[in-house]
Amino acid sequence: MEQFKKYLITVDKNMSVISTEQSFLDYIGRSEVDNLDQVVPPQDLMQLRNAVFAIDPGTLGLSCFRIRTSNGRLNWIAANVEKRLEHDELIRMELSDIQTLKADGALAQYDEMTGIFNKQAIKEYARTLTEQYPRRSFYFCLMDIDHFKSVNDTFGHLCGDEVIIDVAHIIRDCVGTDGMVGRIGGDEFMLVLEKVDTKPRVREVLASIRETVEEKYKNYKDSLNITVSIGTALYPDFAVDYDALFKLTDKMLYLAKIKGRNRYIIYTPEIHGDVNAEVQVAAVSHKPAEGATKLQLMLDLLTRFLHQTELSIQLALERVTAAYDLDELYVFYENLEKSRYGVGRVDLEKDGSGLEVRANAMPFLGTEAFGRLFDENGVAIVNVFDLNKETYADIIEYMEKNERRFMVVCRLKTKKGDGYIAYINKRENSRRLSEADILDLVYFAKMVELTSGDR
Ligand code: GH3
Ligand code: MG
Repeated sequence: MEQFKKYLITVDKNMSVISTEQSFLDYIGRSEVDNLDQVVPPQDLMQLRNAVFAIDPGTLGLSCFRIRTSNGRLNWIAANVEKRLEHDELIRMELSDIQTLKADGALAQYDEMTGIFNKQAIKEYARTLTEQYPRRSFYFCLMDIDHFKSVNDTFGHLCGDEVIIDVAHIIRDCVGTDGMVGRIGGDEFMLVLEKVDTKPRVREVLASIRETVEEKYKNYKDSLNITVSIGTALYPDFAVDYDALFKLTDKMLYLAKIKGRNRYIIYTPEIHGDVNAEVQVAAVSHKPAEGATKLQLMLDLLTRFLHQTELSIQLALERVTAAYDLDELYVFYENLEKSRYGVGRVDLEKDGSGLEVRANAMPFLGTEAFGRLFDENGVAIVNVFDLNKETYADIIEYMEKNERRFMVVCRLKTKKGDGYIAYINKRENSRRLSEADILDLVYFAKMVELTSGDR
């Protein structure tokens, strides 16, 4: 790891400098400094003052802020802060220059549109914090606005921009001096809650963000409903480094989306299982698999299903869709009107490769006519061209409208009543499933059946 330069300074609670070393003056390129406000930007100084205020005399605290250095740049500083017992008005700080940004000229650190940190600055900040203080706990969050594309589509890009700005300001205000926030993509944000290391506290912060956003738009003209989804995880308890932390948190955001959006999810191993193992699952290539690979996949999935989590169901569905070259896959139970889990292939014309989370409705599920298509094992093999036009008019209409040609539907007997899993092929030239494949899929349906009633 890098060796960081360190400087000792003493200040009072107004941030007036009481004593310092020559090396610090050289570092900031000044012959003297009266108050830290001469070298620390206002937002950062407020953060530092609050951090100092919160420290009990005789104990150590940590604060991160930026400082203007001799070459005119703002460098990141991590400060070990100590309020001396005998003089609690005197604050001793050991400053470490933890700047690791590349020397690439002008360092634009703020996102122009929202005024919060930009992607590079906030990512660098988070990474630096984990590297410099590998044992210090903090919550890390990724947040994304729900169905934001439809805001742009319905109300225009300018309105979309306004929403992004509002949301950025809401998160900045709700986080306050508990951490740093930045915009890392169109409608995506990163929150580094460096002062938050307990679940009740992180709940408080995230609930206030979720509620404030929802409230703000609730009674807005033209029924503009804006909500956000947030994933969060505690460092270093559940992630060894920044990259692992990002991946884990991103999985929690994904989970918040598939569970219905407008919520935050805090990674909890007892609920979400070993997500690290599943991160690799998600990276599996979306190509049809060979026989032996399929067998391996089934055995692997069976093992995973013994440690069931919502996330692993969704990922398992994606793997099956990819390995068996399906176009769509849906699971229904409890509420048969809308699928509970679903996967669909995107960019069919282009390369048939991408998969996405989808929901679907099949209005004929549970009807008597549809029930007649099932064999004694609870399996229905439905080919649109083979269906009797009178008896199954509604199913034919549905399949034609949705351009579906072939479905294998398995009935699931769950603890909460009947459910279904539908494997669908829609491409004209898509491979028809072999008997062996269908058997695998029936077997997979059994796995889903075994677990689905529990959640
Ligand atoms: P989801 O709930 O799954 O997040 O759905 P979504 O529609 O929000 O999907 P996604 O997050 O992928 O969409 C982000 C969209 O944000 C895509 C892009 O058109 C739009 N976008 C990106 N940058 C900007 C911007 O600066 N201004 C505006 N108005 N729109 C942007
Ligand atoms: Mg979005």
